[in-house]
Amino acid sequence: MQRTIIEAEFLLSGLSLESKVRFAKISQSDFNAILKLYEGVMSYACHGLFFREGEALADSIMEVCSKNPDLLECSKKLLIARGWLEDVSFNDKEVRVKGSIEVTEGSEKPTCHRLRGLLSRIMEAHAKTSIRLVEVECRSNGGKECVFKQEMD
Ligand SMILES: [Zn+2]
Repeated sequence: MQRTIIEAEFLLSGLSLESKVRFAKISQSDFNAILKLYEGVMSYACHGLFFREGEALADSIMEVCSKNPDLLECSKKLLIARGWLEDVSFNDKEVRVKGSIEVTEGSEKPTCHRLRGLLSRIMEAHAKTSIRLVEVECRSNGGKECVFKQEMD
């Protein structure tokens, strides 16, 4: 697993396999427990923080993919290799995700807050304009898959 991630990073960035990049593994149930912990402390206000966390996590993806001519394809490979999701498709109107690690089935609301931040930042870099996605459909509260659309103000 660790080897697979490092190899994907290497293939996409050209960075040396000897570079000391390390990853921690967090399970889907760990994500669920952290969500419950934060919601218990600060209610839904934590969702904005998770979103910001996702934006910050996108920076290292941007770094790896900065020299890749296909930012979206490179980001997709990294998101899969890093375990955030099983599949993602990007188009102008929406981003569709299968197998988000942040899914907690039986929730009342969408739960993929970090992923929303990650995808917002990736779409921003791709479109070269400010983009903030909202999760309009989520596996957690009965959706077929997780669907993110650009927030309209
Ligand atoms: Zn979701």
